[in-house]
Amino acid sequence: MNSKEQYDLVVVGGGAIGLATAYHSAKMGKKVLVLEARQFFHHSGSSGDIMRMFRILYSTRQEVERAIEALKIWHKLEEECGEKLLWMTGQLNFGSEKSTAGAQGEYKKVKEVLEHLKRPCISLSKEEIEKEFHLTKLGYDGYFSPDNGVMNVPLILRTFYKLARQNLATLIEKAEVTSLKVDNKSVTVTVNTGETYTAKKCVIACGAHTNRVLEKIESRPKYQLNYAIWNMVYDYYATDPKIDSIYPGMWVFFGEGEDALYYGFPPVPWGPPNLAKIGWESATQRIHGTEIAKNPADRVDLVPAKEDVQKTVKFIKEHCLGVEPYPVYSGNCVHPHFGDHKAVLDRLPEHTNVVVCAGGWSFKFLPLYAEWIYRLTFEDATLEDLSCEDLAINRTAPNPDPQKAKKREQVSVLIESESTSSSS
Ligand SMILES: Cc1cc2nc3c(=O)[nH]c(=O)nc-3n(C[C@H](O)[C@H](O)[C@H](O)COP(=O)(O)OP(=O)(O)OC[C@H]3O[C@@H](n4cnc5c(N)ncnc54)[C@H](O)[C@@H]3O)c2cc1C
Repeated sequence: MNSKEQYDLVVVGGGAIGLATAYHSAKMGKKVLVLEARQFFHHSGSSGDIMRMFRILYSTRQEVERAIEALKIWHKLEEECGEKLLWMTGQLNFGSEKSTAGAQGEYKKVKEVLEHLKRPCISLSKEEIEKEFHLTKLGYDGYFSPDNGVMNVPLILRTFYKLARQNLATLIEKAEVTSLKVDNKSVTVTVNTGETYTAKKCVIACGAHTNRVLEKIESRPKYQLNYAIWNMVYDYYATDPKIDSIYPGMWVFFGEGEDALYYGFPPVPWGPPNLAKIGWESATQRIHGTEIAKNPADRVDLVPAKEDVQKTVKFIKEHCLGVEPYPVYSGNCVHPHFGDHKAVLDRLPEHTNVVVCAGGWSFKFLPLYAEWIYRLTFEDATLEDLSCEDLAINRTAPNPDPQKAKKREQVSVLIESESTSSSS
């Protein structure tokens, strides 16, 4: 069946990026369609769970400024919708200057950039950290930056959804895109129910499933992106009710061993009381190479990795006062990881009316990325215009396989692939 309506934009994927994009483009007057394979707000993609970090703490000036720009848009959005989307608790970074760069940047550089940009940054001694954050036997000083906070994920997703609808976007769930025909004037997508839709432009915002969708484009050359899928675990732990505020803000510990990065969130007002999310900032379960994300229907074996929970429990036993070292519950979320921890936000080569956005720790950048996606899609902007060449689809990045990254192997983020056979 063909839908007769001609859309300006079809967004494939109704997670955080898809919903933010739909809202912004619809607000700019475009006729927008969102197709989501599952139900909106499901927890099996990258946008599951109830909280994310908003942080300006990055090791490059460009990323810090980008986060500050995003924060301004978040605040405007809060005014527009009359909701508090971010809870600005601040963030403590503490640990070793010898820690290796990871998802949270480089410990020392983060502080240097903050000071260079004259953002508030309060030094805390190890004694102050022990007293105020109930974290013990770690033996490191740190710095606290107030311009950071916890993001209310369920409210943000529902706000984008609601505002997109108010701006007359059409949002359809249980509509898995199974093929895309692209020419320079239009994109026709077919979904699993047999329905087809046509739009002038297309945004692919399918998170860890991006490669599955790219291979459904019915023309050559075929492209895949060079990411590894991290099956990330998150756990919640009971905190001592006698302690009023176990963590006055979010915290990140930078240890010296490989991947020795741990974080904690304070219990949030929109979550279960006296439960803190604490975790290891990496993942044991990873899918490498150009293998692709599993079909949601095949995900029964994708349960939180025991090793990841054990690492966190050990850390809590040794260092977290007032926290019971047994997870009350754990979940998992898939994350498409490019070796430089950044997103891809760019047009697809040969198909310049198709924009792809995936990966990175992107929740904090949502409203900014939605504006950039709009400008790339409808205003012929270039990545240079947006100062986001670092998100280019044709860049190189450290190999997402950590063994190869250790040997400093760089790989192209975009891979031209003749083969369409991948296990799904
Ligand atoms: C555990 C974890 C912690 C994180 N922490 C932070 C943080 O603290 N701060 C931060 O800024 N970022 C963080 N991130 C990153 C952030 O959550 C993601 O960048 C963001 O949620 C990505 O949203 P998305 O829309 O790209 O992906 P998703 O939410 O996965 O959405 C993609 C959607 O596409 C749909 N889809 C797939 N295939 C099809 C198809 N064929 N047809 C139609 N629809 C399809 C899927 O069902 C899904 O709903 C974290 C990520 C994880 C996993």
